[in-house]
Amino acid sequence: MSLHLTELNQQYLRKDPYNRLQNLFSHFAPADILVTSSFGITAGVLLSMVHSIAPNHPIYFLDTTYHFPETLAYKEQLQAKLNLNIVTLKANPSDSQDTLDRKLWETNPDLCCQINKVEPLNVVKKEHKIWVSGLMSDQTEHRKALNIFEQKQNLIKFHPLIDFSNYDAMLYLMVNEIPNHPLMEQGYDSVGCVHCTQKGDCRMGRWAQFAGKTECGLHL
Ligand code: SF4
Repeated sequence: MSLHLTELNQQYLRKDPYNRLQNLFSHFAPADILVTSSFGITAGVLLSMVHSIAPNHPIYFLDTTYHFPETLAYKEQLQAKLNLNIVTLKANPSDSQDTLDRKLWETNPDLCCQINKVEPLNVVKKEHKIWVSGLMSDQTEHRKALNIFEQKQNLIKFHPLIDFSNYDAMLYLMVNEIPNHPLMEQGYDSVGCVHCTQKGDCRMGRWAQFAGKTECGLHL
């Protein structure tokens, strides 16, 4: 398959998210495909599809050490239900400890995310050619502008759910009997680290005290 992204985007636009993933796994070597999940509110959609298409494919999870206990419990729940092969990534321990000692999320959340999320994933990104994530366009202004395939330095980013709405995601979870994240019923539309997540619509509760910050940096 040609890697001409304009052509790929046109081809995949006509497919539904499941077929996009199915095609990706049939046309690219699985070892080249990186799949990540934050085990957030809509994570079950991508995980269920990957489980069905490529059982046992590694799912990389960034453990910032600041997750809600409910997120870790949800990760265990989905792992058991879908038999997921989860690979946990963590920051360098001394760097991570430094973010804790300085409560870096209060003063410099970009650096805190860089240390706890971006850098640990950078190591794994180098070993892959395509990065699959569950971004959806109605989550942020930045995501609205994304295509299914995007070139990001040496990596191609793949967003099979980009035109899925939150309603579509919730319907998919219900129809496929995938449990919901336990914090959803408490009013959280989006869940990240404890220090940077409040209840709220869409991603309004993420980094709410920092105007303009809507992304951790992984997808920018
Ligand atoms: S989301 Fe908050 S606590 Fe988590 S890594 Fe980013 S700044 Fe740190």
